[in-house]
Amino acid sequence: MPATASPAQSSASDVAVRHDWKRSEIDALFALPFNDLLFQAASVHRAHFDPNAVQVSTLLSIKTGACPEDCKYCSQSGHYNTELEKEKLLEVARVVEEARAARDKGASRFCAFLYGRRLA
Ligand code: SF4
Repeated sequence: MPATASPAQSSASDVAVRHDWKRSEIDALFALPFNDLLFQAASVHRAHFDPNAVQVSTLLSIKTGACPEDCKYCSQSGHYNTELEKEKLLEVARVVEEARAARDKGASRFCAFLYGRRLA
């Protein structure tokens, strides 16, 4: 879709999933007014997914604080006193219990984080 196209001009080809983008086409996307870009993105989404479906995800930090890395901006780093309460690595049984509880509450995705890094 050209950068100047109005939302009313969307067509089936505009919502096709593409893997052959040219740099100039990508530049044109970045140049779009925000609401036009939002409309195009929503059009593609609606063409391929239930527009009102929401995936329920549950996140669990299985190890908080005392990360061995030295990222100066991060409160998880064990190199600094960030006043973050450090926790031991959760037992596998506890993680499984939490995952089952999340599933029972309707979550279809369960993400375990280690110091803020996604594991699964
Ligand atoms: S949790 Fe990530 S960002 Fe924070 S200190 Fe560890 S590696 Fe760095």
